Formats: sequence, structure tokens, C-alpha cells
Amino acid sequence: MKVGTTDYQKILNQIQQELSQAEVSGKVAAYIPELAKVSPEKFGMHLYNLEGENYCFGNSEERFSIQSISKVFSLALAMKIIDSDLWKRVGVEPSGARFNSLSLLEDNGGIPRNPFINAGALVVADVLVSCFSNPKAAFLSFMHELTGNSTISYDETVAASERSEGYRNFAMANYLKSFGNIKNDVEEVLDFYFHQCSITMSCKELSQAFIVFANKGNLLDTDRQLLTGKQVKRINALMLTCGFYDEAGEFSFEVGLPGKSGVGGGIVAVHPNHYAVAVWSPPLNPKGNSARGMAALERLTTLTGYSIF
Ligand code: GLU
Repeated sequence: MKVGTTDYQKILNQIQQELSQAEVSGKVAAYIPELAKVSPEKFGMHLYNLEGENYCFGNSEERFSIQSISKVFSLALAMKIIDSDLWKRVGVEPSGARFNSLSLLEDNGGIPRNPFINAGALVVADVLVSCFSNPKAAFLSFMHELTGNSTISYDETVAASERSEGYRNFAMANYLKSFGNIKNDVEEVLDFYFHQCSITMSCKELSQAFIVFANKGNLLDTDRQLLTGKQVKRINALMLTCGFYDEAGEFSFEVGLPGKSGVGGGIVAVHPNHYAVAVWSPPLNPKGNSARGMAALERLTTLTGYSIF
């Protein structure tokens, strides 16, 4: 079913109206001190489709900390470089555990269950640190290529804030290193990881960046192929099965789109061949996903009657 041009804006307006009035459940992430300063009232959404049309409401153009949403971009860059060798070091199975769980590494011999839990993203970060002499610069230039927007950058304050309290990620990187699944200096890998998570983007910028996953790897404006169809198929499959940690089943059940969340309160979802959509609302549910963001995307696919299923 094709959703008419005017319907998307009408549906987004309805979502804004319904959910702005609903009580906000959840708590803004506080384990990264800088994130705790963000207003829980922020709420924005932006949908960008393959026709190049934009639909939005609320704080859709305000930048926020993308956190784990960056793991989709780092994975895409690593797959462009090493692809099949990557899967010897990271699995492709849902973890059913919290995003920062250490427990599954013991039984899996230091191979993280998937690239979207922190352990997996640290291995991907290690791959990028191995491949580039200046990985932070290389990652930003990939982001600029993907978005056509050279103003996208790291937030040094957020990166330093995460580092200052990052005991668990330090433990995880050292644990991975003990299994030989981090090849570089742990400090260097974590520095890269904290920086990739600190990138700030708006819902508008995120939906435009994710359109490549709805468009078989092609950039929309230039029609240039940035990722292969196979890479995009795999990344979308991983988003669907692993993009929401131990709530991936719930997101699939309620929303029915591949997507990725971050503890900054952002969620991006993709409808292959149709659109990419980003939503931002900082309060997180107990699983670490934006409570209102999940509800907004559930309303989107319910009101359009249209998901991948
Ligand atoms: N930088 C965050 C961490 O490592 C990312 C977690 C997330 O967004 O889910 O804890």
C-alpha cells in the first residue's frame, strides 16, 4: 500500500498531538552525566522518503547525542573495509541481554553476540582503529560522505563525560582484550568509541543519513552507491534482530521495522524502499530505549497500516 504524500504529515501531526499529551514515562539517561542535563520534554520526529520528501514535527531539527545509533554507521564503515573477516570476531545473534552486559562474553570465548551491544561495537571500533591512521577523522569523513553535511561532528564534552564514568566500557574492553578480540591499545579503542557515540545529529539529519539503508545502499541526492545491496540487507537484518538489545522482539512486534536506538533518546527506523524515520524523546524505558520514541513509531506503522510485515 502506498501512503499518499499528504497522509504522512497528517499522521505525524496526530502522533505529536496524541503523545505530547500522554504522560512521559521513563528516565533520561544519567550514567553519562552530560546526558542528564537534557530536557525530558524534547520531542521531535522526521520522516524522509525515497521521493525526497520531508515530514516532521517538534524538535526535529535540534541536534542530540546519537549514542548507540552511531554503531550502525561504524558497522557500515567496517563492513566496507573487511566484511567477511568481521564475522569471525562478532556474531549476528540477538543477545537477549542489556546493552552493556558482560556476562555473555565468558561463554562465547570473547566473541560478542552482535555488533550493536557495547561489546560488539567495541570490536568494530577496534577494527576501525586498525584500519585507519586517524580513525576519528576517517569516521567523520565517512559521516560527511553519507550525509553530504560537513558540519556533523563529535561533542567533546559528551565524550569526556562518558569517559569520566565509563568504568563498565573500560572493563568490557579489557575483558575483550584478554580474549585477544581487541588488537589495539584499549585506551585508543575506547577513545574512538566514546567519540563515535558523542556525535550530535538532529532527527532530520538522521533520517536523511539512514535513507541509504532504505535505498539499497545508494545515496538519494547523487544516486551514488555507498554500500552494496548485500551489506544493506545484512545491516537491516541486524537492526531488526538486535537494534534494541533485549527489547528487539518488542520493537519488531509493536513497530515492525528495522531500527536502532541510543541512550540519548533517539531512535531511527527504516522502511526499505520507502522511507527512513527518526524520533527523539530523552526519557528511556527500563531497557534503555526511548519510551515515547517507541510509542511514536508504533503509532506510525499502525496509523499507516504499513510495516515490513
Ligand atoms: N555510549 C553508550 C554506552 O556505551 C551507548 C549506549 C546506548 O546508546 O545504548 O553506554
